[in-house]
Amino acid sequence: MSCYIRVEAVNLDNLIGDTQTLHVIRGGSALITNAIDEVAAKFGGQMRPIFSDASSGVFEASGAAMDASTAESLCEDVRGHLRSGIFRHATFVVAFALEDITSDHSFGAVCEELLAKNRWQQMQQPSLSLSCVFGAGVAAARLFCELDAIRPATEKYRSSSGSKDICAVCHDRITLGKDTKENFYEKELGPGVTLKSGFAQSFEDISKVEPAALAAKGVSPRLADKIAVIYIDGNGIGKLMRGLDDTGKVVEASKDYKNYRRQFLNELVLGRVETDRDGLWTGGKANDKYNRIELLMWGGDEMTLVVPAWKGWETLSLFYQLSKDWQLNGQLLSHAAGMVFCSHKSHIHHQVNLAHRLAGEVKACASPGNRFACQVLNGFDYVDADLDAARRPLCGESGESLLLSGLAMQGVTEGLAALREAVSRVQVYDLVEELATDSTAAASEKADKLMAALTAQVPNHAEITDCLGKGRTFWLHLRELWNFIPVDSSLAAGMPAGKGGAQ
Ligand SMILES: [Zn+2]
Repeated sequence: MSCYIRVEAVNLDNLIGDTQTLHVIRGGSALITNAIDEVAAKFGGQMRPIFSDASSGVFEASGAAMDASTAESLCEDVRGHLRSGIFRHATFVVAFALEDITSDHSFGAVCEELLAKNRWQQMQQPSLSLSCVFGAGVAAARLFCELDAIRPATEKYRSSSGSKDICAVCHDRITLGKDTKENFYEKELGPGVTLKSGFAQSFEDISKVEPAALAAKGVSPRLADKIAVIYIDGNGIGKLMRGLDDTGKVVEASKDYKNYRRQFLNELVLGRVETDRDGLWTGGKANDKYNRIELLMWGGDEMTLVVPAWKGWETLSLFYQLSKDWQLNGQLLSHAAGMVFCSHKSHIHHQVNLAHRLAGEVKACASPGNRFACQVLNGFDYVDADLDAARRPLCGESGESLLLSGLAMQGVTEGLAALREAVSRVQVYDLVEELATDSTAAASEKADKLMAALTAQVPNHAEITDCLGKGRTFWLHLRELWNFIPVDSSLAAGMPAGKGGAQ
Protein backbone atom coordinates (compact mmCIF):
# COMPACT_ATOMS: atom_id res chain seq x y z
CA MET A 1 0.00 0.00 0.00
CA SER A 2 1.34 3.43 -0.93
CA CYS A 3 0.65 6.64 0.91
CA TYR A 4 0.01 9.89 -0.95
CA ILE A 5 -0.02 13.22 0.86
CA ARG A 6 -1.42 16.45 -0.52
CA VAL A 7 -0.40 19.82 0.91
CA GLU A 8 -2.27 22.92 -0.19
CA ALA A 9 -2.22 26.61 0.75
CA VAL A 10 -5.85 27.75 0.94
CA ASN A 11 -7.83 30.98 1.49
CA LEU A 12 -5.37 32.89 -0.67
CA ASP A 13 -7.53 36.01 -0.64
CA ASN A 14 -6.30 36.58 2.90
CA LEU A 15 -2.67 36.09 1.96
CA ILE A 16 -2.35 37.64 -1.50
CA GLY A 17 -5.65 39.38 -2.21
CA ASP A 18 -5.73 41.49 0.97
CA THR A 19 -3.51 44.29 -0.33
CA GLN A 20 -2.69 46.23 -3.51
CA THR A 21 0.96 46.71 -2.57
CA LEU A 22 3.31 44.91 -4.94
CA HIS A 23 5.96 43.94 -2.34
CA VAL A 24 3.35 42.35 -0.08
CA ILE A 25 1.63 40.45 -2.90
CA ARG A 26 5.07 39.24 -4.05
CA GLY A 27 5.91 38.03 -0.52
CA GLY A 28 2.55 36.27 -0.09
CA SER A 29 3.01 34.48 -3.40
CA ALA A 30 6.59 33.50 -2.47
CA LEU A 31 5.43 32.19 0.89
CA ILE A 32 3.16 29.65 -0.81
CA THR A 33 5.73 28.48 -3.36
CA ASN A 34 8.38 28.26 -0.66
CA ALA A 35 6.08 26.22 1.59
CA ILE A 36 5.71 23.42 -0.97
CA ASP A 37 9.49 23.47 -1.70
CA GLU A 38 10.23 23.55 2.03
CA VAL A 39 8.03 20.51 2.72
CA ALA A 40 9.81 18.69 -0.13
CA ALA A 41 13.23 19.55 1.34
CA LYS A 42 12.45 19.06 5.04
CA PHE A 43 10.59 15.74 4.62
CA GLY A 44 12.68 14.51 1.69
CA GLY A 45 13.76 11.41 3.65
CA GLN A 46 10.17 10.31 4.22
CA MET A 47 8.35 11.34 1.07
CA ARG A 48 9.14 12.35 -2.50
CA PRO A 49 7.41 15.11 -4.48
CA ILE A 50 5.30 13.82 -7.37
CA PHE A 51 3.52 16.84 -8.72
CA SER A 52 3.01 20.46 -7.73
CA ASP A 53 1.24 23.55 -8.98
CA ALA A 54 1.14 27.17 -7.81
CA SER A 55 -0.40 26.42 -4.41
CA SER A 56 -0.30 22.66 -3.80
CA GLY A 57 1.93 19.61 -3.94
CA VAL A 58 1.33 15.85 -3.96
CA PHE A 59 3.94 13.63 -2.29
CA GLU A 60 4.43 9.87 -2.07
CA ALA A 61 5.52 8.42 1.27
CA SER A 62 7.14 5.03 1.22
CA GLY A 63 7.98 2.42 3.82
CA ALA A 64 6.90 -1.16 4.46
CA ALA A 65 5.24 -0.19 7.76
CA MET A 66 3.02 2.47 6.23
CA ASP A 67 -0.45 2.43 7.71
CA ALA A 68 -3.11 5.02 8.56
CA SER A 69 -1.58 5.89 11.90
CA THR A 70 1.95 6.39 10.46
CA ALA A 71 0.50 8.45 7.60
CA GLU A 72 -1.51 10.66 9.98
CA SER A 73 1.54 11.15 12.16
CA LEU A 74 3.57 12.26 9.11
CA CYS A 75 0.77 14.67 8.09
CA GLU A 76 0.76 16.10 11.62
CA ASP A 77 4.53 16.69 11.41
CA VAL A 78 4.02 18.56 8.12
CA ARG A 79 1.16 20.63 9.64
CA GLY A 80 3.35 21.44 12.64
CA HIS A 81 6.13 22.66 10.38
CA LEU A 82 3.69 24.83 8.43
CA ARG A 83 2.49 26.41 11.67
CA SER A 84 6.01 27.66 12.40
CA GLY A 85 8.06 30.62 11.18
CA ILE A 86 6.64 32.69 8.37
CA PHE A 87 4.36 29.86 7.22
CA ARG A 88 2.15 30.52 10.28
CA HIS A 89 0.72 33.53 8.42
CA ALA A 90 -0.95 31.28 5.82
CA THR A 91 -3.54 28.53 6.16
CA PHE A 92 -2.63 25.08 4.87
CA VAL A 93 -4.45 21.77 4.61
CA VAL A 94 -2.62 18.42 4.66
CA ALA A 95 -4.38 15.12 3.94
CA PHE A 96 -3.33 11.56 3.03
CA ALA A 97 -4.73 8.66 1.04
CA LEU A 98 -3.57 5.06 1.40
CA GLU A 99 -4.08 3.54 -2.01
CA ASP A 100 -2.53 1.37 -4.64
CA ILE A 101 -2.49 2.67 -8.19
CA THR A 102 -3.96 0.00 -10.45
CA SER A 103 -5.46 -0.04 -13.91
CA ASP A 104 -8.88 0.53 -12.28
CA HIS A 105 -7.67 3.06 -9.75
CA SER A 106 -5.49 5.65 -11.43
CA PHE A 107 -3.29 8.36 -9.94
CA GLY A 108 -6.11 10.73 -10.94
CA ALA A 109 -8.57 8.90 -8.66
CA VAL A 110 -6.08 9.22 -5.77
CA CYS A 111 -5.80 12.96 -6.49
CA GLU A 112 -9.61 13.28 -6.41
CA GLU A 113 -9.71 11.60 -3.00
CA LEU A 114 -6.95 13.87 -1.66
CA LEU A 115 -8.64 16.97 -3.03
CA ALA A 116 -11.96 16.05 -1.39
CA LYS A 117 -10.20 15.50 1.95
CA ASN A 118 -8.35 18.84 1.63
CA ARG A 119 -11.64 20.67 0.91
CA TRP A 120 -13.26 19.10 3.96
CA GLN A 121 -10.31 20.25 6.09
CA GLN A 122 -10.52 23.74 4.61
CA MET A 123 -14.18 24.03 5.61
CA GLN A 124 -13.34 23.06 9.17
CA GLN A 125 -10.77 25.75 9.86
CA PRO A 126 -10.75 29.57 10.04
CA SER A 127 -10.25 31.27 6.66
CA LEU A 128 -7.70 33.70 8.10
CA SER A 129 -4.53 32.74 9.91
CA LEU A 130 -4.76 34.05 13.47
CA SER A 131 -0.99 34.48 13.76
CA CYS A 132 -1.45 38.27 13.82
CA VAL A 133 -3.78 38.08 16.83
CA PHE A 134 -1.38 36.36 19.16
CA GLY A 135 1.88 38.09 18.17
CA ALA A 136 4.02 40.47 20.17
CA GLY A 137 2.74 44.03 20.59
CA VAL A 138 -0.83 43.21 19.51
CA ALA A 139 -2.35 44.25 22.85
CA ALA A 140 -0.71 47.68 22.61
CA ALA A 141 -1.59 48.23 18.92
CA ARG A 142 -3.96 51.14 18.43
CA LEU A 143 -3.95 51.25 14.64
CA PHE A 144 -4.92 49.01 11.75
CA CYS A 145 -2.27 47.99 9.23
CA GLU A 146 -2.04 50.67 6.54
CA LEU A 147 -1.46 48.09 3.82
CA ASP A 148 -4.26 45.58 4.39
CA ALA A 149 -6.58 47.55 6.75
CA ILE A 150 -7.47 44.30 8.56
CA ARG A 151 -4.79 43.33 11.05
CA PRO A 152 -3.39 45.23 14.05
CA ALA A 153 -0.38 47.41 13.20
CA THR A 154 2.57 46.31 15.32
CA GLU A 155 5.47 47.15 12.99
CA LYS A 156 6.92 50.16 11.20
CA TYR A 157 7.69 50.06 7.50
CA ARG A 158 9.98 52.70 6.06
CA SER A 159 10.29 53.25 2.33
CA SER A 160 11.27 56.10 0.03
CA SER A 161 7.67 57.35 0.19
CA GLY A 162 7.68 57.61 4.02
CA SER A 163 6.85 55.53 7.06
CA LYS A 164 3.79 53.31 7.55
CA ASP A 165 2.29 51.39 10.46
CA ILE A 166 1.84 47.82 9.30
CA CYS A 167 1.05 44.37 10.71
CA ALA A 168 3.52 41.55 11.31
CA VAL A 169 2.04 39.56 8.39
CA CYS A 170 2.72 42.38 5.90
CA HIS A 171 6.13 43.02 7.44
CA ASP A 172 7.19 39.38 7.06
CA ARG A 173 5.79 39.16 3.53
CA ILE A 174 7.74 42.27 2.46
CA THR A 175 10.98 40.81 3.84
CA LEU A 176 10.35 37.43 2.21
CA GLY A 177 9.33 39.04 -1.10
CA LYS A 178 12.60 40.96 -1.23
CA ASP A 179 14.79 37.95 -0.41
CA THR A 180 12.94 35.58 -2.72
CA LYS A 181 12.90 37.97 -5.64
CA GLU A 182 16.66 38.28 -5.53
CA ASN A 183 17.11 34.50 -5.62
CA PHE A 184 14.21 33.64 -7.90
CA TYR A 185 15.97 33.93 -11.26
CA GLU A 186 19.03 32.05 -10.08
CA LYS A 187 16.80 29.30 -8.71
CA GLU A 188 14.77 29.08 -11.93
CA LEU A 189 17.41 29.76 -14.57
CA GLY A 190 20.48 28.20 -13.04
CA PRO A 191 23.45 28.99 -10.80
CA GLY A 192 25.23 32.25 -11.53
CA VAL A 193 22.28 33.87 -13.32
CA THR A 194 21.94 37.39 -12.00
CA LEU A 195 20.04 40.26 -13.50
CA LYS A 196 21.75 43.49 -14.53
CA SER A 197 18.72 45.56 -13.57
CA GLY A 198 16.74 45.69 -10.32
CA PHE A 199 13.04 45.10 -9.70
CA ALA A 200 10.04 47.38 -10.05
CA GLN A 201 8.83 48.50 -6.63
CA SER A 202 5.22 49.08 -7.64
CA PHE A 203 2.75 48.64 -10.51
CA GLU A 204 3.30 52.34 -11.18
CA ASP A 205 7.02 51.67 -11.73
CA ILE A 206 6.16 49.04 -14.36
CA SER A 207 4.22 51.52 -16.50
CA LYS A 208 5.66 54.91 -15.52
CA VAL A 209 7.10 56.62 -18.59
CA GLU A 210 7.05 60.01 -20.27
CA PRO A 211 4.41 59.82 -23.04
CA ALA A 212 6.86 61.54 -25.38
CA ALA A 213 9.40 58.75 -24.80
CA LEU A 214 6.84 56.20 -26.05
CA ALA A 215 5.89 58.34 -29.03
CA ALA A 216 9.58 58.65 -29.96
CA LYS A 217 9.71 54.83 -30.26
CA GLY A 218 6.54 54.62 -32.36
CA VAL A 219 4.33 53.53 -29.44
CA SER A 220 1.11 55.37 -28.64
CA PRO A 221 1.72 57.86 -25.80
CA ARG A 222 -1.74 56.86 -24.50
CA LEU A 223 -0.17 53.65 -23.22
CA ALA A 224 1.83 55.51 -20.55
CA ASP A 225 0.72 54.41 -17.06
CA LYS A 226 -1.07 51.35 -18.41
CA ILE A 227 -0.19 47.76 -17.60
CA ALA A 228 -0.97 44.40 -19.19
CA VAL A 229 -2.08 41.66 -16.80
CA ILE A 230 -1.56 38.26 -18.44
CA TYR A 231 -2.79 34.94 -17.10
CA ILE A 232 -1.76 31.73 -18.89
CA ASP A 233 -3.09 28.27 -18.07
CA GLY A 234 -2.45 24.92 -19.75
CA ASN A 235 -5.43 23.18 -21.35
CA GLY A 236 -5.97 19.83 -19.63
CA ILE A 237 -2.32 19.50 -18.53
CA GLY A 238 -3.21 18.68 -14.91
CA LYS A 239 -5.70 16.10 -16.20
CA LEU A 240 -3.06 14.65 -18.53
CA MET A 241 -0.64 14.23 -15.61
CA ARG A 242 -3.24 12.79 -13.26
CA GLY A 243 -4.21 10.32 -16.00
CA LEU A 244 -0.72 8.79 -16.18
CA ASP A 245 -0.65 5.21 -14.90
CA ASP A 246 2.61 5.41 -13.01
CA THR A 247 3.86 8.07 -10.59
CA GLY A 248 7.35 7.85 -12.14
CA LYS A 249 5.83 9.16 -15.38
CA VAL A 250 4.07 11.97 -13.44
CA VAL A 251 7.38 13.02 -11.89
CA GLU A 252 9.02 13.02 -15.34
CA ALA A 253 6.17 14.98 -16.94
CA SER A 254 6.23 17.51 -14.10
CA LYS A 255 9.98 17.97 -14.56
CA ASP A 256 9.63 18.35 -18.32
CA TYR A 257 6.96 21.01 -17.90
CA LYS A 258 9.11 22.96 -15.43
CA ASN A 259 11.89 22.98 -18.03
CA TYR A 260 9.51 24.26 -20.70
CA ARG A 261 8.37 27.04 -18.38
CA ARG A 262 11.99 27.96 -17.66
CA GLN A 263 12.67 28.14 -21.39
CA PHE A 264 9.97 30.83 -21.66
CA LEU A 265 11.30 32.69 -18.60
CA ASN A 266 14.83 32.56 -19.99
CA GLU A 267 13.80 33.86 -23.40
CA LEU A 268 11.53 36.56 -21.96
CA VAL A 269 13.69 37.90 -19.13
CA LEU A 270 17.22 37.33 -20.37
CA GLY A 271 16.46 37.49 -24.10
CA ARG A 272 14.03 40.41 -24.14
CA VAL A 273 13.70 42.34 -20.86
CA GLU A 274 17.37 42.51 -19.87
CA THR A 275 18.59 42.92 -23.44
CA ASP A 276 16.14 45.85 -23.75
CA ARG A 277 16.79 46.54 -27.42
CA ASP A 278 14.15 49.25 -27.72
CA GLY A 279 14.74 50.80 -24.28
CA LEU A 280 11.11 50.17 -23.32
CA TRP A 281 11.62 47.11 -21.11
CA THR A 282 13.49 48.92 -18.35
CA GLY A 283 12.83 52.03 -16.30
CA GLY A 284 14.76 54.21 -13.84
CA LYS A 285 17.97 56.16 -14.15
CA ALA A 286 21.04 54.90 -16.04
CA ASN A 287 22.85 53.69 -12.90
CA ASP A 288 19.71 52.46 -11.15
CA LYS A 289 17.67 50.63 -13.78
CA TYR A 290 14.86 48.22 -13.06
CA ASN A 291 13.04 45.65 -15.20
CA ARG A 292 9.43 46.40 -16.03
CA ILE A 293 8.06 42.94 -15.26
CA GLU A 294 6.51 41.14 -12.32
CA LEU A 295 5.58 37.48 -12.01
CA LEU A 296 2.62 37.38 -9.66
CA MET A 297 2.17 33.64 -9.92
CA TRP A 298 4.51 30.99 -11.26
CA GLY A 299 3.73 27.35 -10.62
CA GLY A 300 2.44 24.20 -12.31
CA ASP A 301 0.98 25.07 -15.70
CA GLU A 302 -0.29 28.48 -14.56
CA MET A 303 1.40 31.85 -14.55
CA THR A 304 0.34 35.44 -14.03
CA LEU A 305 2.57 38.24 -15.30
CA VAL A 306 2.36 42.01 -15.25
CA VAL A 307 4.26 43.96 -17.91
CA PRO A 308 3.79 47.47 -19.36
CA ALA A 309 0.80 47.70 -21.71
CA TRP A 310 3.14 48.27 -24.66
CA LYS A 311 4.83 44.89 -23.97
CA GLY A 312 1.70 42.76 -23.37
CA TRP A 313 1.28 41.63 -26.98
CA GLU A 314 5.00 40.82 -27.38
CA THR A 315 5.05 38.81 -24.14
CA LEU A 316 2.03 36.66 -24.92
CA SER A 317 3.06 36.23 -28.54
CA LEU A 318 6.49 35.01 -27.41
CA PHE A 319 4.85 32.50 -25.06
CA TYR A 320 2.73 31.05 -27.86
CA GLN A 321 5.68 30.90 -30.27
CA LEU A 322 7.77 28.97 -27.74
CA SER A 323 5.04 26.73 -26.36
CA LYS A 324 3.56 25.55 -29.65
CA ASP A 325 5.84 22.48 -29.80
CA TRP A 326 5.74 21.56 -26.11
CA GLN A 327 4.75 17.94 -25.48
CA LEU A 328 4.17 15.71 -22.49
CA ASN A 329 3.96 11.93 -22.73
CA GLY A 330 3.79 12.27 -26.52
CA GLN A 331 0.85 14.71 -26.45
CA LEU A 332 1.10 18.21 -27.90
CA LEU A 333 0.13 20.85 -25.31
CA SER A 334 -1.94 23.98 -25.73
CA HIS A 335 -2.60 26.97 -23.49
CA ALA A 336 -5.47 29.35 -22.81
CA ALA A 337 -4.77 32.93 -21.78
CA GLY A 338 -6.50 36.09 -20.69
CA MET A 339 -4.94 39.52 -21.18
CA VAL A 340 -6.24 42.75 -19.60
CA PHE A 341 -4.95 46.19 -20.52
CA CYS A 342 -5.71 48.65 -17.71
CA SER A 343 -4.42 51.55 -15.64
CA HIS A 344 -1.73 50.72 -13.08
CA LYS A 345 -4.01 52.38 -10.51
CA SER A 346 -6.88 49.94 -11.06
CA HIS A 347 -7.57 47.20 -8.52
CA ILE A 348 -4.93 44.57 -9.35
CA HIS A 349 -6.87 41.59 -7.97
CA HIS A 350 -9.98 42.51 -9.99
CA GLN A 351 -7.81 42.58 -13.10
CA VAL A 352 -6.10 39.27 -12.30
CA ASN A 353 -9.53 37.79 -11.70
CA LEU A 354 -10.75 39.20 -15.03
CA ALA A 355 -7.71 37.70 -16.81
CA HIS A 356 -8.64 34.32 -15.23
CA ARG A 357 -12.21 34.65 -16.44
CA LEU A 358 -11.06 35.59 -19.94
CA ALA A 359 -8.90 32.46 -20.07
CA GLY A 360 -11.98 30.60 -18.79
CA GLU A 361 -13.81 31.70 -21.97
CA VAL A 362 -11.21 29.74 -23.95
CA LYS A 363 -11.37 26.72 -21.65
CA ALA A 364 -15.16 26.59 -21.94
CA CYS A 365 -14.86 25.81 -25.67
CA ALA A 366 -15.11 22.27 -26.97
CA SER A 367 -11.58 22.53 -28.40
CA PRO A 368 -9.79 25.35 -26.54
CA GLY A 369 -6.43 25.29 -28.39
CA ASN A 370 -3.82 28.02 -28.28
CA ARG A 371 -6.28 30.90 -27.96
CA PHE A 372 -6.76 33.88 -25.70
CA ALA A 373 -9.27 36.57 -24.87
CA CYS A 374 -8.41 40.19 -24.35
CA GLN A 375 -10.07 43.15 -22.66
CA VAL A 376 -9.08 46.81 -22.84
CA LEU A 377 -10.24 48.84 -19.84
CA ASN A 378 -10.18 52.62 -19.75
CA GLY A 379 -9.71 54.57 -16.54
CA PHE A 380 -11.55 52.77 -13.78
CA ASP A 381 -13.70 50.56 -16.03
CA TYR A 382 -14.81 47.43 -14.29
CA VAL A 383 -16.28 44.20 -15.66
CA ASP A 384 -18.81 42.73 -13.26
CA ALA A 385 -19.65 39.08 -12.66
CA ASP A 386 -21.41 38.53 -15.98
CA LEU A 387 -18.49 38.54 -18.38
CA ASP A 388 -20.48 37.23 -21.32
CA ALA A 389 -23.11 39.96 -20.94
CA ALA A 390 -20.33 42.57 -20.86
CA ARG A 391 -18.59 41.26 -23.96
CA ARG A 392 -21.34 39.88 -26.19
CA PRO A 393 -22.92 43.24 -27.15
CA LEU A 394 -19.53 44.23 -28.56
CA CYS A 395 -19.90 41.89 -31.49
CA GLY A 396 -23.47 40.67 -31.19
CA GLU A 397 -22.20 37.13 -31.41
CA SER A 398 -21.12 34.40 -29.01
CA GLY A 399 -18.24 34.88 -26.58
CA GLU A 400 -16.29 32.25 -28.56
CA SER A 401 -16.18 34.48 -31.63
CA LEU A 402 -14.22 37.02 -29.56
CA LEU A 403 -11.32 34.61 -28.95
CA LEU A 404 -8.00 35.37 -30.63
CA SER A 405 -5.40 32.98 -31.98
CA GLY A 406 -2.16 32.98 -29.96
CA LEU A 407 -0.11 31.41 -32.75
CA ALA A 408 -1.14 34.12 -35.23
CA MET A 409 -0.12 37.02 -32.94
CA GLN A 410 3.34 37.21 -34.48
CA GLY A 411 1.78 37.48 -37.95
CA VAL A 412 -0.30 40.47 -36.81
CA THR A 413 2.85 42.22 -35.59
CA GLU A 414 4.62 41.49 -38.87
CA GLY A 415 1.70 42.74 -40.95
CA LEU A 416 0.71 45.76 -38.90
CA ALA A 417 2.84 48.31 -40.74
CA ALA A 418 1.29 47.27 -44.09
CA LEU A 419 -2.15 47.14 -42.51
CA ARG A 420 -1.81 50.71 -41.29
CA GLU A 421 -0.97 51.69 -44.87
CA ALA A 422 -4.11 50.00 -46.15
CA VAL A 423 -6.60 51.35 -43.60
CA SER A 424 -6.42 54.26 -41.19
CA ARG A 425 -7.32 54.23 -37.52
CA VAL A 426 -10.07 56.79 -38.12
CA GLN A 427 -11.61 54.58 -40.83
CA VAL A 428 -11.63 51.61 -38.45
CA TYR A 429 -13.16 53.67 -35.63
CA ASP A 430 -15.90 55.03 -37.88
CA LEU A 431 -16.62 51.63 -39.34
CA VAL A 432 -17.07 49.98 -35.92
CA GLU A 433 -19.51 52.74 -34.92
CA GLU A 434 -21.45 52.31 -38.15
CA LEU A 435 -21.56 48.51 -37.85
CA ALA A 436 -22.88 48.85 -34.31
CA THR A 437 -25.60 51.39 -35.06
CA ASP A 438 -26.44 50.92 -38.74
CA SER A 439 -27.82 47.62 -39.94
CA THR A 440 -28.21 48.82 -43.54
CA ALA A 441 -26.24 47.41 -46.39
CA ALA A 442 -24.15 50.61 -46.56
CA ALA A 443 -22.14 49.76 -43.44
CA SER A 444 -21.36 46.22 -44.55
CA GLU A 445 -20.49 47.45 -48.03
CA LYS A 446 -17.99 49.81 -46.44
CA ALA A 447 -16.59 46.94 -44.38
CA ASP A 448 -16.21 44.81 -47.53
CA LYS A 449 -14.39 47.66 -49.29
CA LEU A 450 -11.94 48.15 -46.44
CA MET A 451 -11.37 44.41 -46.20
CA ALA A 452 -10.68 44.28 -49.96
CA ALA A 453 -8.06 47.07 -49.56
CA LEU A 454 -6.50 45.20 -46.68
CA THR A 455 -6.43 41.89 -48.57
CA ALA A 456 -4.81 43.53 -51.59
CA GLN A 457 -2.16 45.45 -49.66
CA VAL A 458 -1.24 43.25 -46.72
CA PRO A 459 0.70 40.14 -47.75
CA ASN A 460 -0.10 38.13 -44.60
CA HIS A 461 -3.73 39.26 -44.27
CA ALA A 462 -4.87 35.67 -43.73
CA GLU A 463 -2.81 35.38 -40.53
CA ILE A 464 -4.17 38.71 -39.30
CA THR A 465 -7.79 37.68 -39.77
CA ASP A 466 -6.95 34.29 -38.29
CA CYS A 467 -5.82 36.07 -35.12
CA LEU A 468 -8.33 38.90 -34.82
CA GLY A 469 -11.47 37.13 -36.03
CA LYS A 470 -14.01 37.52 -38.78
CA GLY A 471 -16.67 40.10 -39.68
CA ARG A 472 -17.54 42.70 -37.03
CA THR A 473 -15.28 40.97 -34.51
CA PHE A 474 -12.25 41.61 -36.73
CA TRP A 475 -12.92 45.37 -36.93
CA LEU A 476 -13.74 45.56 -33.25
CA HIS A 477 -10.47 43.87 -32.24
CA LEU A 478 -8.53 46.05 -34.65
CA ARG A 479 -10.05 49.19 -33.10
CA GLU A 480 -9.54 48.04 -29.50
CA LEU A 481 -6.00 46.75 -30.00
CA TRP A 482 -4.73 49.30 -32.54
CA ASN A 483 -2.37 50.95 -30.05
CA PHE A 484 -1.47 47.77 -28.18
CA ILE A 485 -0.10 45.72 -31.07
CA PRO A 486 3.55 46.60 -31.68
CA VAL A 487 4.70 47.37 -35.18
CA ASP A 488 7.63 45.17 -36.06
CA SER A 489 10.31 47.82 -36.45
CA SER A 490 12.51 45.71 -38.72
CA LEU A 491 9.66 45.27 -41.21
CA ALA A 492 8.45 48.84 -40.84
CA ALA A 493 11.94 50.27 -41.51
CA GLY A 494 12.11 52.22 -44.72
CA MET A 495 8.33 52.35 -45.12
CA PRO A 496 6.66 55.73 -45.39
CA ALA A 497 4.81 56.96 -42.28
CA GLY A 498 1.45 55.16 -42.01
CA LYS A 499 -1.83 56.96 -42.39
CA GLY A 500 -2.95 55.85 -38.97
CA GLY A 501 0.23 55.41 -36.93
CA ALA A 502 0.57 55.70 -33.19
CA GLN A 503 -1.61 58.44 -31.76
ZN1 LIG B 1 -0.83 44.21 7.07
